Formats: sequence, structure tokens, C-alpha cells
Amino acid sequence: MSKIVQGHQARKRFGQNFLAEPYYINRIVDSIAPQPQDQMVEIGPGLGAITELLLDKVASLNVVELDRDLIPRLQTKFADANNFQIHHCDALKFDFASLVNSENKQKLRIVGNLPYNISTPLIFHLLQYKTHIQDMYFMLQREVVERICAEPSTKAYGRLSVMSQYHCETQMLFTVPPGAFQPAPKVNSAIVRLMPRSIQPLKPVKEQLLAKVVTESFNQRRKTIRNNLKHWLCETDFELLKIEPSARPETLTVEDYLTLTNLIENKL
Ligand code: SAH
Repeated sequence: MSKIVQGHQARKRFGQNFLAEPYYINRIVDSIAPQPQDQMVEIGPGLGAITELLLDKVASLNVVELDRDLIPRLQTKFADANNFQIHHCDALKFDFASLVNSENKQKLRIVGNLPYNISTPLIFHLLQYKTHIQDMYFMLQREVVERICAEPSTKAYGRLSVMSQYHCETQMLFTVPPGAFQPAPKVNSAIVRLMPRSIQPLKPVKEQLLAKVVTESFNQRRKTIRNNLKHWLCETDFELLKIEPSARPETLTVEDYLTLTNLIENKL
């Protein structure tokens, strides 16, 4: 059943679950700790619940919203703000580098209570712009946040964990119950912080190849790493790297995947 929220017909296909509990809205904004000089970007501002609190705290706030019905509402609601710009666009196609101020090149701070069906592709889209990003705060389905932040040898650890943790420091901040939204989603949600690594503490690696290796490795979770990577690596390669060839993919650390990728690159 669709639902009317503040006179707006909430659309399922746009993943519209509007935050309605001030407690959680405040908690998100407190976690971001906006500073006066910040270049903030909000993805999917909706009816402006988070937007409103951010606007009087930062130098610049760009929002990217896909639903055309929401655009005039946002324009009217924030008509007086001179630090505010709306981009009526699909965030998956948006060029986030275009928001970087050409003079001071200040990094962007990004926030979004994202539509859950596009959250993973959107995070990968944003990671292409990671050199322009200071940090990101996303409301996601709780299971997705757990996968992003998971440690090796846990059920949640997989491709999303390795790739997110290679690019970013990740942290689950807090969970949010369905009742905090209108309409209420069927799942629990959580806020995650992603901070692109400015210094890469892990070994440098060809990122495209890493993505391939990780995908192949987790393709068959129950098989050994030797089996999943057999067209790239042989037994002696594993010995050289001191990685147990009979290990399951979920027991390898992010660093192990980088080491494997670097060796594969040398062999190609
Ligand atoms: N931030 C608001 C709204 C959350 S609902 C709040 O917390 O209340 C998710 C929002 O993302 C909606 O406004 C929806 O229209 C928007 N949205 C959905 N898909 C989008 C996309 N591909 N690009 C940009 N915005 C999108």
C-alpha cells in the first residue's frame, strides 16, 4: 500500500522511506558533525528531513534528487537559502567531481538515506570519485552495513567487505528501527561511515584486477581459494605467499587479496 507523507505520495520504486523521528535525524547530523566550511552533498533529500538541519551549518549543500515531484517542494522549502543547490538527476549517473569547487578543491562530505535497492551500485559509483571525498554517511539496510564492515571468518564477510575496506575505513555507527520512517520499511537499518583512505596502508594494487580476483574468489564460497583461482595461480604461488591453498575465501584478509592480486598481475 502506498502512503501519503506530508502531502506527498511515497513511491516504492524510488525507495522512499522518509525519516520521521527527530531523535534519529539529530543523531545522524551529530555523527557527521558538520563544520562551517564543509562542502556537503546529500543524495535523495526527499522531503528535506536531514537537509533542513544541515543547511544552516555548512558553506555549501548540493542535493541530488531523482523524483521530479519533490523538486518544487524542496525549492519552496529552502527558497531563502543561498548555499543550496538542487540537481534533479539519477545519483547513479551523476558526476560528483562536478561539485568540487575549482578554486579551493575542497573534498566533499556525502550523506544519504539511500534507496536500498541501489545502495551497492551507488557506493561503487561514488568510489570512482574517492579522491574528491572526505567521508560518506549512509543509511542502509542493516545486513548491508554488516557486510561492508565484516571481519574475515564471519558469515557477513565477502566481496562487499573486501572492496569497501580496500577503498575506505568503514564503521557501523548505530542501528535505526523501522518505526523511525514513514512509511516504515520491512527491514532494520543502520548508519555506516565510509572514509576513503588518503594514505593507502595496504599494498598498492591494480583496482580493476582486484575487483575481478575478489569476485572470482567469492563466486563459490564453499570451495577453496585454490579451486576458485586455479586458472590464475598454482600450488607453489600460494606457498610463496604463505597463503593456505585449502583455505575458504572468507578466511582471507583484505591484505591477502591484495597480495594475491599483485602476484597475479606479475604473472599476466
Ligand atoms: N533523505 C530523506 C529521504 C529518504 S527516501 C529522508 O531521510 O527522509 C530516499 C530518497 O532518495 C527519496 O527522496 C528518493 O526519491 C530518492 N532517490 C531514489 N532513487 C534515487 C536516485 N537514483 N538518485 C537520487 N535520488 C534518488
